Amino acid sequence: MKKKFVERFNVLKKALPYAAKHKKIFISYILLNIILCVLGAVVPLLTAKQLIKLTDGLLNDLVKISILILGIQLFMNIIRYFSRRNAHRFFHLVSKDVQVDLADEVMKIECKDLDKNSSGVFIDRLVKDTTRIADIFIELNFSIMEIVTNIGLLLAIFVINKVMFLYYVFAIVLVYVIERIRIKKRLEIDKKYRKIAEKTTGLIGELVRGVRDIKVLNAQDSFMKKVNTEITKVNDERYKMSTVNRKYTFLANSVDDILEFLLVLLGVFMIYSKYLTIANFVIIYMYRSKVFNLLYMVSSLIEWYKDFELSANRVFEVIDSDVFKKEKFGKKHLKKVNGDFEFKNVSFGYDDKKVLKNVSFKVRHNETVSFVGKSGSGKTTIFSLLAKLYDVTEGEILIDGVNVNKLDRNSIRGNISIITQNPYIFNATIRENLTLVKDNLKEKDMIKACKMACLHDYVMSLPDGYDTLVGEGGITLSGGQRQRLAIARALVQNTEIILFDEATSALDNETQESIQKAINNMKRKYTIMIIAHRLSTVINSDRILVLNNGVIEATGTHDELLNSNKYYKKLYNLELSKDS
Ligand code: ADP
Repeated sequence: MKKKFVERFNVLKKALPYAAKHKKIFISYILLNIILCVLGAVVPLLTAKQLIKLTDGLLNDLVKISILILGIQLFMNIIRYFSRRNAHRFFHLVSKDVQVDLADEVMKIECKDLDKNSSGVFIDRLVKDTTRIADIFIELNFSIMEIVTNIGLLLAIFVINKVMFLYYVFAIVLVYVIERIRIKKRLEIDKKYRKIAEKTTGLIGELVRGVRDIKVLNAQDSFMKKVNTEITKVNDERYKMSTVNRKYTFLANSVDDILEFLLVLLGVFMIYSKYLTIANFVIIYMYRSKVFNLLYMVSSLIEWYKDFELSANRVFEVIDSDVFKKEKFGKKHLKKVNGDFEFKNVSFGYDDKKVLKNVSFKVRHNETVSFVGKSGSGKTTIFSLLAKLYDVTEGEILIDGVNVNKLDRNSIRGNISIITQNPYIFNATIRENLTLVKDNLKEKDMIKACKMACLHDYVMSLPDGYDTLVGEGGITLSGGQRQRLAIARALVQNTEIILFDEATSALDNETQESIQKAINNMKRKYTIMIIAHRLSTVINSDRILVLNNGVIEATGTHDELLNSNKYYKKLYNLELSKDS
């Protein structure tokens, strides 16, 4: 029990450093709230006095007290303004810090774990849960202040009249019990709601990203059916939550009214029996809503804390737990690699099934090596392993003779670029897509890279040239232009090793030619490995590796393989027949 109680605060401990970073703002927020609480307790006392003066007919005193109350309330308004300003500022700063940290940690998650989860898992945590972490500090402070003030008021009532005190205790407990039941029910639904909401966010993300394919596939109706089901589920849960809140608010309000009625009845009876003076009853009555809510504040504080716990656990699950495994890198740093690499008896599987089986090959500095093989034979996996997007299960991969597991991130990814079949182009200008990999990119280097990638002429034909926006995923560019922009990006990055996954999609001859020209421009200047789908790309390679079902079946030049490898010969004949 005690352990569980302590564990409850572990998550708050994790969140504390974020608040501590902005402690000045937070402390001034606390001080302003203390002033507000004290004044908030004094005002009803003065109002009660005001009423007594009125009944006693002391108009002069009444005016004085009224002016004092006005002054205090105006002053409280000013304090409230600054308290809220600090609360907003604090909320903004803490949320920002948590969001940036979380985004950074998402980047570090192993691809294996990213593959398993929908994007909604991360988007919801980034956008929604992070804000609750900042909220809790504001709420903790506000509730604690209120609770302390209300305890003070309850003690004052104890001093004034014991019977009234007992009645208040009864009222407080009753309000608390109703609130606890409401919170329990709401939190149960909330937990379920968040899981469903994650799924829906992921689906909406797919809808936005895949909208073109959905249209072309004429799958609007079936996709919308799925979206409709998910959105309905989320909204049903949300509606359930509001129903719980509505029902219990109705109950709480009714109970409140009855409690107030009974309080007046009790007061009148006690005044009549001379157990209580009218003045004291007015004071006690003035504080009723504050004091009745004493435990309500406690339970809403618990509610806030549980909400926070739910969100914070989801955030810290990503930041510092084993639920999402983080990529691990070694310490050895190679500033500029020579460009040799080697696979030594490498076996690998995304799950239990092996995709690569005992693969061994070497690629030397400035060599151009191509891979051919059926789809699914493991070619792309070889690229992913070299860039350490996944860790090998058996064997080792060496870059410049050093095991990639010993190298730091920059030594690997700063020295390898991968041009995928469908490269991701960011929703920015062409220039920004290039400066993303090198901030201080000089104009002449950018143009040189684009010329080498056979993209410069096209860019110059655009009205805004390098400052043309390319849309989300580079949608305004053709497939070939996207690949050439990705080639230019790799050239700007100036990595020694360039891996190129040739597009399988039927690019027109002219585009194919310009991509081929771009690759030819890079030959002998870089170590290049190509996944080739066309023999025209392969013929000029120094070496060709034939991959079959995760095994390197043959190695050689084009002529050698044509004579010795059946699969290669079949591929060649197939292409010849296509050309003719
Ligand atoms: P290729 O590039 O030769 O077409 P891949 O290396 O992409 O082949 O894929 C090899 C095998 O690994 C395929 O059976 C594919 O389904 C599987 N595979 C590829 N990527 C993943 C992944 N991220 N998770 C699980 N399996 C994968």
